[in-house]
Amino acid sequence: MKLRVGHLYPDYLNIYADRGNIAVLIERARLRGHELDVRAIGMHDRVPVGEIDLFYVGGGQDREQALVADDLAAKAPPLRGAVEAGAAFLAVCGGYQLLGRFYRDVAGVEHPGIGLLPLHTVAEPRRMIGDVLLECTWAGRTLAGFENHAGRTLLDEGAEPLGRVVAGFGNDGRSGYEGCRYRRVYGTYLHGPLLPRNPWFADHLLAEALAHAGGPTELAPLPDELERQAHAVSAERARSRGGRF
Ligand code: GLN
Repeated sequence: MKLRVGHLYPDYLNIYADRGNIAVLIERARLRGHELDVRAIGMHDRVPVGEIDLFYVGGGQDREQALVADDLAAKAPPLRGAVEAGAAFLAVCGGYQLLGRFYRDVAGVEHPGIGLLPLHTVAEPRRMIGDVLLECTWAGRTLAGFENHAGRTLLDEGAEPLGRVVAGFGNDGRSGYEGCRYRRVYGTYLHGPLLPRNPWFADHLLAEALAHAGGPTELAPLPDELERQAHAVSAERARSRGGRF
């Protein structure tokens, strides 16, 4: 199958090589005989609704977020429409924050979000930095990654987190939650990049994209030896950082 990926603002939101997540998706799809057609959706570009199976937006600092926020807000209706029609979406850190209702930076400046996820984010001076490990009970798996953010993300009552923090800070360092899930949308603070060390999650996203594209969603298992080691090293680093914040 040909899967269509829409990469939002690759020139602005690509901190910690978040672009690496796309490389993982391309390769894991290729190994199963699927082709990924990755298109950049940049400033002033139209969102090709109905033509994208998986949207992706990476992280960025406040400056880059401020540069894209208004443009992204203008793209909110087509993005919401695509998600309601079953498109998948992965958003990391700065991109994740902008999927909520707003992001208020440390200076108190409020940047509009697109209200796709039931949350908002407010920054505080002390940054939350380090390795992080999550338990995703909905999937029976763990996710390991690296976080570095000033924003504290608060989920609305009843919102589904991506996981529970085993070690690290997560959304706000208090709730014990990390990330957010809604339909086929996944928002998270985890960089690393995230997907090389969490291959199950890469496959989950590919399966979601395949479902949107109307293809068979089963993906043949891959050996994943290096990936397992990468996950174990990252998980261990997070654990040795101490208990939950
Ligand atoms: N503005 C964000 C924060 O520090 C973005 C961080 C990031 O994407 N690494 O909270």
